[in-house]
Amino acid sequence: MFQPDLLKGKRILVTGGGTGLGRSMAHRYLELGANVVICGRREDVLKQTAEELAKETGGEIETVGCDVRIPDAVEAMMDKIWAKRPLDILVNNAAGQILAQTNKMSSRAIDAVLGIVLHGSAYCTVAAGRRWIDAGERNKVVMSILTVSSLTGAPFTVPSAMAKAGVLAMTKSLAVEWGPKGIRTCAIVPGPFPTEGAWSRLMPKERGGQDEMIKAIPMRRVGEHIELANLAAFLVSDGAAYINGDAIVIDGGKMLQSGGGGANTSAMLDWTDDQWEAIRPKKKSGP
Ligand code: NAP
Repeated sequence: MFQPDLLKGKRILVTGGGTGLGRSMAHRYLELGANVVICGRREDVLKQTAEELAKETGGEIETVGCDVRIPDAVEAMMDKIWAKRPLDILVNNAAGQILAQTNKMSSRAIDAVLGIVLHGSAYCTVAAGRRWIDAGERNKVVMSILTVSSLTGAPFTVPSAMAKAGVLAMTKSLAVEWGPKGIRTCAIVPGPFPTEGAWSRLMPKERGGQDEMIKAIPMRRVGEHIELANLAAFLVSDGAAYINGDAIVIDGGKMLQSGGGGANTSAMLDWTDDQWEAIRPKKKSGP
């Protein structure tokens, strides 16, 4: 799909790159010739992932233990990364998520999600952007991984929706503020992509598995990691150099299926031909 050296010479940090979609993006970046750094809180997980990815791709990968909620920890991580070689691309992917009734959420739970997603993405973005701007470096990219709830809102995952909407606002704001300085921002809005992290938090067995959800996706399936990883590779590549401030949805059309306007015509997707025939306007007989 891409030139094998699409990302050659690029140094990329993927936050939360030890697991799930972050791991899959890191894998694709390595395959395409990038030098990759992954961070997260669990250093054992990072080390194991890095070993596996190095073996699978033959690429160069480093790990840094970091809790992105802590500004000093983020600065220390960036110092460590820059000491070897400055980054070219930051991918804000680390996230936390809680499925709960909002009126029963503790302030600690709300802070935890806002801390990782909203504050963590801001700390990482500012730490990288300040270093690029101070050094006068151009052709840099910040890409953030959002959620559909950042565009539509979502019940029972309210702190995440709030935090991701904030990261979208950051993406759009910095596109204008930093664009002239040679730093572009963009985002991916994924629909459902099975990962251990997301499924354990959002798909408890009481919800009856993913079958119901799949009915709400026009493509009638969940996403494959390689599909998201390929989009993530294109968006950070020089080929996407004119995409600035936008968020690309990759959800099989799920966000749109809840459409159908006030008449909720999406609810008629399973209608039989007989049902359609029954409501077809009948031709009047006679002249
Ligand atoms: P995941 O495997 O649970 O990934 C989350 C990662 O974030 C983990 O590696 C975790 O590592 C890291 N992390 C959490 N708190 C952190 C902190 N304070 N500091 C640094 N790292 C932290 O889940 P995923 O499904 O791959 O999600 C990846 C991204 O895709 C997220 O932004 C998520 O919102 C987005 N997304 C996913 C889906 C989906 O269907 N999977 C849909 C829409 C959007 P540690 O625990 O070791 O820190």
